[in-house]
Amino acid sequence: MLRVIIDGQARECAPGTVLEALESLGISIPALCDDTRLTPVGACRTCIVEVEGCERPVAACTTPLAEGMMVRTRSPQVEARRRVLLRLLASEYPAEAVARHPDKPFHRALREYGLADEALGTHRPESLDDSHPYIHVDMSQCIHCYRCVRICDDVQGQFVWRVWDRGAATRILPDGPSLRESSCVSCGACVDSCPTGALEDRTLLDRGSPEAWTRTTCSYCGVGCEMDVGTREGRIVTVRPSREGPSNRGHLCSKGRYAFDFVTAPDRVTVPLLREAGGWRRASWDEALGFIAERLRRLRDAHGPDTVGMLGSARATNEENYLAQKLARVVLGTNNVDCCARVCHAPSAAGLKRMLGTGASTNSFEDVEHARTLLVAGSNATECHPVVGARIKQAALRGAKLIVIDSRRTELARHADVHLRPRPGTDVPLLNALAQVIVAEGLCAPDFLRERVDAVEDFQAFIRDWTPERAARLCEVDAEELRKAARLYATHGPSMMVHGLGMTEHVQGTETVMALVNLALLTGNLGGPGMGVNPLRGQNNVQGAAHMGCEPGQLTGYVPLEEHRTRFEAAWGAPLPSTPGLDLMQMMEAARGGRLKALWAFGYDVLLTNPGAHTTRQALERLELLVVQDLFLNETAKALGHVFLPACTSFEKDGTFMNGERRVQRVRASLPPAGESLPDWEILCRAARALGHPEGFAFTSPEGIWDEVRRVWPMGAGLAYARLEHGGLQWPCPDEAHPGTRVLHTHGFALGPRAALRRIGYTPSPEARSEDYPFVLMTGRRLYAFNAGTMTSRTPNVRLQPGDWLDMAPADAQRLGLEDGARVRVRSRHGQAVLPMHRAEGLRPGELFTTFHTAETLINAVIGPHQDPYTHTPDYKVTAVRVERVE
Ligand code: SF4
Repeated sequence: MLRVIIDGQARECAPGTVLEALESLGISIPALCDDTRLTPVGACRTCIVEVEGCERPVAACTTPLAEGMMVRTRSPQVEARRRVLLRLLASEYPAEAVARHPDKPFHRALREYGLADEALGTHRPESLDDSHPYIHVDMSQCIHCYRCVRICDDVQGQFVWRVWDRGAATRILPDGPSLRESSCVSCGACVDSCPTGALEDRTLLDRGSPEAWTRTTCSYCGVGCEMDVGTREGRIVTVRPSREGPSNRGHLCSKGRYAFDFVTAPDRVTVPLLREAGGWRRASWDEALGFIAERLRRLRDAHGPDTVGMLGSARATNEENYLAQKLARVVLGTNNVDCCARVCHAPSAAGLKRMLGTGASTNSFEDVEHARTLLVAGSNATECHPVVGARIKQAALRGAKLIVIDSRRTELARHADVHLRPRPGTDVPLLNALAQVIVAEGLCAPDFLRERVDAVEDFQAFIRDWTPERAARLCEVDAEELRKAARLYATHGPSMMVHGLGMTEHVQGTETVMALVNLALLTGNLGGPGMGVNPLRGQNNVQGAAHMGCEPGQLTGYVPLEEHRTRFEAAWGAPLPSTPGLDLMQMMEAARGGRLKALWAFGYDVLLTNPGAHTTRQALERLELLVVQDLFLNETAKALGHVFLPACTSFEKDGTFMNGERRVQRVRASLPPAGESLPDWEILCRAARALGHPEGFAFTSPEGIWDEVRRVWPMGAGLAYARLEHGGLQWPCPDEAHPGTRVLHTHGFALGPRAALRRIGYTPSPEARSEDYPFVLMTGRRLYAFNAGTMTSRTPNVRLQPGDWLDMAPADAQRLGLEDGARVRVRSRHGQAVLPMHRAEGLRPGELFTTFHTAETLINAVIGPHQDPYTHTPDYKVTAVRVERVE
């Protein structure tokens, strides 16, 4: 600590700038160009202070604090200068804006210095830009602090805002004719930073300032951004990023920041419904749950407990997923319980568990800043995990080396030192070739191999034949580029991998993850900062849903059922079912064959999400009971549901989520439940009672459930709610004195002191291209939409990204005579879908990309039945198709 004198008082402050010291002491001065997320520039000079020994006042934001420093923040000279500066800024500022939004930092400063009445300017119509669905622009309120420019450049890395002209003529404009037509990605960072009303959330202007703020965790992707929700009169008026959020550090993406109006969407269903001949009818909770209980009992008595299945949800909290699997096992008597991890990162969990003993990210998002080389494999992170994507982009802009493995030329690929573009479905040969180069060129980490790795010689013998030339033929990549990537990854460490569904949603998904781990083991890039193998988990709580036990063969803590049966039976006071459970894909198969009679799915649109929409429909049609628990009548409910149970959104309930870096974070209600909707945990507790099994489900709060989770999950025992208040904690965290674990496998591995390299052979994808089906279709998601679109489709995000469309290489479009926007039919051996086509530079001829966001397109009708043999995760990334114009 430094001893200083501030305004005549002796103080002790941490090293930093003078402004940081003042803020830590609660001393407020204007600082209009300052933002803690940005490097200080001292441009506006409103934070000037006097420092003893300095001739002139200095900017507090750029002046380092020093031992013995004497600082005066409000001397007459400083105050006079500040007043002059503020008066100058006020001279053309719209007076009406100051009165309308008194809380803006600039407006506060004007009032404090008695200058509010000196703002005599007016709104200039030519400075208005009303094009963007979320962001209102009125540059007559711009004071040229450049915070918008700097935060867009330095945090998001988008470079949207540009400065034109100089002096009094200075204008700040987006890089397009309007903000809507610019390269803006709607992260809202410029709005957060703007100290005036020049950039503002439209919702805030329309609905008024928040009356209350609630800190919670984003309910979209697995980054787990912490955010503050501002509410007024029962509505969300704005969402702001938490500066303390460990995974987002004051940043959000368009979904977390703006896509919240689904909560009050007009078609939100807030009462229980029962299907009768002629359609749905309203029911009471008792009636709906009574109906379910009676039907389940009947089916169970007639056909046995294993004719029933339960699907937990990545959208629901840990507590709710814990209860879902407990209810399935203890009340319904079946291990038929699963969640949507099955269709995304189950191969990551399986591959990492097999190789290292823990089926989760080895490192943390903050390791992005510690890595000297980043290997991004099969992940379009700037669209699918935008906040981490922005961190990776910033790291690359600061000089970290970037290797991208992706068939498409993604945004990160454009920043990459090496971009490897394997033919879809050939990741294993590519990764094996990288390993071959590392071994052949002696780039392994010998000490790490000697001390921590087994099967080295066996692996070396196996990998010898996987030359870059051999892989290059299979993958259609340049052998020299493979060598370059391998050398970079192995020699310019620490090297960190992040991977996405481009690696896992393949028939080789688990083996691909294992091949990634091989690379990390060979080079010693495990167990330290800036290293590791890190799946970017798709949904907010998909890690948690599976970890809580929504997996047929795993119990809470992701532990094998048979090994831990006795412990859980003792904890739950009930026997566990002995029949091995079915996973989601097996349940669909069993339903189609008439062996599964009832399915209870919450927060998961089975029909829209599963591959082979027609076979999924056939399966669901045969069910005698389909319970859908959701916010809306999703496609599954609309088509085939028997009972609809209205659930709360994550803005209306408490609990925890587990993000992709193993961090358990608090979810807090900012609104009361809409209508008669209930949190999923409460629905499950009521259901257990209706099924005559109140024991073990008498919870009155999520915290009570969580405390039970902590009792059965030793590695999470230290994660008490009280300890999660600020930013959450990462497991393992075995006791309440434990600080949580940022990096796994620092000494030994979860499976023992040594891990083994594995031979990963290559099994080609069954979807071969042919004359009839000459294209390979890959599916995924885009920036503004989220999975089945249940939430984002009910927000203005649809104005930013309307529907699904097919990306096609311009050369292919030209060859087929298709103009941009032409409607095309995509036909595979399994089904077809119709959607508009757009030319996309990022694709190679012969490869196509689209999304699965809308029921209108139902692209999953095209996807085949091929699965990863270890996890049954469907192959969404390689489908042979042809494309025909729809006349
Ligand atoms: Fe939410 Fe993910 Fe966006 Fe963060 S990056 S705001 S968690 S969707």
